[in-house]
Amino acid sequence: MKELIDFKEKIDKDKLEEVCKSIKDGSVIVFPTETVYGIGANALDKSAVKKIFMAKNRPTDNPLIVHISNYDMLDKVVSNVTKYEKILMDKFWPGPLTIILPKKEEIPNIVTCNLDTVGVRMPSNKIAINIIEKSGVPIAAPSANISGKPSGTLVTDIVDELKDRVDYIIDGGISDIGLESTVVKLDNDVVKILRPGAITKEDILSTGLNVVLDKHLFKDVQENEKVASPGMKHRHYAPKVKTILVYSNDEKKEYDRICDIINENNNKKISILGFNENKEKYINKPNVKFMCIGSKHDLNSVAKNVFTVLRKVDKYDLDLSIIEGVEKQGIGLAIMNRLTRACGYNVIEL
Ligand code: AMP
Ligand code: MG
Repeated sequence: MKELIDFKEKIDKDKLEEVCKSIKDGSVIVFPTETVYGIGANALDKSAVKKIFMAKNRPTDNPLIVHISNYDMLDKVVSNVTKYEKILMDKFWPGPLTIILPKKEEIPNIVTCNLDTVGVRMPSNKIAINIIEKSGVPIAAPSANISGKPSGTLVTDIVDELKDRVDYIIDGGISDIGLESTVVKLDNDVVKILRPGAITKEDILSTGLNVVLDKHLFKDVQENEKVASPGMKHRHYAPKVKTILVYSNDEKKEYDRICDIINENNNKKISILGFNENKEKYINKPNVKFMCIGSKHDLNSVAKNVFTVLRKVDKYDLDLSIIEGVEKQGIGLAIMNRLTRACGYNVIEL
């Protein structure tokens, strides 16, 4: 890494210019967006994009999202936008929504892993927008993490992992949202959610469009099964230690079941990833380490914390990790999607 740049307080113009010039010259940078940190490079430069895949150890069949800062750039990247897709752009851009669209030839095949579509997003984070706008090129950027690990939402979580793999790391503070963008693909006025995020099913329904959830959001992909989004096939977010997700809308039932698991494993070291409100219930148990994932009354706080907490699990010498689930509503759908994958689909729903 050439430099760790601090833009938390303000964007330094000279530094911004230096970074943007180096992007045009083929550099790879870690930069903040409102969802999670991204590892970005010029989307039109094949060899720069290749460096992203290498930096992340990303499977070469998992396509990248292209980030744009204005609608002229969109025209350079995609060949067609329907009136329904335009409704979503008008309502949710700039913001955490990625739309899968037919790609133009200018986008190299390495970005889309040979698909004829490309995922496009216009972020709202000020630093991200400034970088794209000043560079003058669309920026391909997957989440900033080694593939399989939780996405980076805080520079201190990812600096060691990525510092020898990129040219610059830009610190913009903690990510506002903390979960990756909602990914959708349209079939006329039917919006299929391929990955849930902060733009919720309910938000999209409010535009008058129809919404369906992809069948793989909570189900592991079988070998040779066809998927709408290659990212669904790959292991993600999972701590090394065995992890179980437990959820019931009946709090007592959920707590009793977690206690049963703790008792069955009384000779083991267990972490509970739970809500602040439930801390007291667990902290006196001798074999339990409680790790707070936020408040059950504020799921946005859970979204913001969850990757940082998942990253900490393996720092302790544990035998088992149990996570308290949330209702699959609003942003809860996205949280449960990530937690389900973090547990390797090891889920108890009561
Ligand atoms: P990440 O960049 O790590 O946040 O992951 C991007 C997600 O978008 C992955 O799940 C990809 O599979 C998905 N994605 C990107 N481009 C496409 C595309 N053209 N079609 C379907 N899914 C895509
Ligand atoms: Mg990712």
